[in-house]
Amino acid sequence: MHRSEITIDLGALRRNARRLLAVLGGPELWAVVKADAYGHGAVQVAGAALGAGATALCVATVGEALALRQQYPGVRIVVLGPPGSSRDVAKARDAALELVIADGEVPDAIPVHLKLDTGMGRWGLDRLGEIPANVVGLMTHLATADSDLRFTEWQLERFRQATAPHPQLLRHAANSAAALRIPAARFDAARCGIALYGLSPFGEDPAEDGLEPVLHWTSHLAQVKLLPGGYSTGYGRRFVAGEPTWIGIVPVGYADGFRRNLTGTEVRVAGELRPVVGTVSMDAFAVELDRELPVGTPVTLVGHGVLLESHARVAGTITYELACGIELRPERVRKTVVHS
Ligand SMILES: *Cc1c(COP(=O)(O)O)cnc(C)c1O
Repeated sequence: MHRSEITIDLGALRRNARRLLAVLGGPELWAVVKADAYGHGAVQVAGAALGAGATALCVATVGEALALRQQYPGVRIVVLGPPGSSRDVAKARDAALELVIADGEVPDAIPVHLKLDTGMGRWGLDRLGEIPANVVGLMTHLATADSDLRFTEWQLERFRQATAPHPQLLRHAANSAAALRIPAARFDAARCGIALYGLSPFGEDPAEDGLEPVLHWTSHLAQVKLLPGGYSTGYGRRFVAGEPTWIGIVPVGYADGFRRNLTGTEVRVAGELRPVVGTVSMDAFAVELDRELPVGTPVTLVGHGVLLESHARVAGTITYELACGIELRPERVRKTVVHS
């Protein structure tokens, strides 16, 4: 039996893409598949997103883009991060990629999107200046689309003013949060990552925005034991049974991406939500049971009603970080792709 199983539901991904397209109501959907599609597998996710109507792929590095170019020869691929070197630029040119330039010289003979810093205070130009002929798009990135509408409106107003003299160029500003809830941010295209994966950019239940989680993670009870009162489980004795307590050991730990600070979060054991107790180890964690259950009992870590958003809240982080951290190497996990 595998220690755990990850299922990627490309049917759900397609429905999320169609949902985003419906909400956008005209602007293009560009699928953000950087970091191996937030841990979901970039090549397959890209194919499903394009099949559902996305018209471009966005990645962080030239290397990520080259891996996709072989599979998707005619598709627009935009490298969001700065090219590291002139060799990167040459490779990008050869592979017909598009670059985002946020600083310094604009390379020639390759389509370029100029990135304006309208308030993110990170990558980006302070002003546009003269625009070379190979520039095809103008973009900006929003710092608070999930949390502060007034600041977002201020960023959008700066973007509108700076780009108004160039109506012939593509304009794009929205991430998932803005695509879903800020109509003024939509322009010609929206660059959506997290929502495609059925995760809420707002840390809420994704169903509120009509999204379905794409990743499901299951395992099983590998050992079940009765801790006598006063006995503990795990490093540091952080959980001590007050009275005799059944616990199950799940063969998944922080080396698999089930983070060490997930103590206290809930997973589904035999259909019921049960708390993770004690310190999460590298390769295992314990769950408190209310009765003896057989070894092999299924445990749902993510999906089927166990929200990654809930785990993120317990861990004090965001779903983006948890999803990117899930280990997909076949030595650790069995990965299956389904089309529901
Ligand atoms: C990652 C990224 C996005 C996608 O953000 P989501 O919140 O995942 O939709 C959009 N634009 C840029 C520039 C990014 O780096």
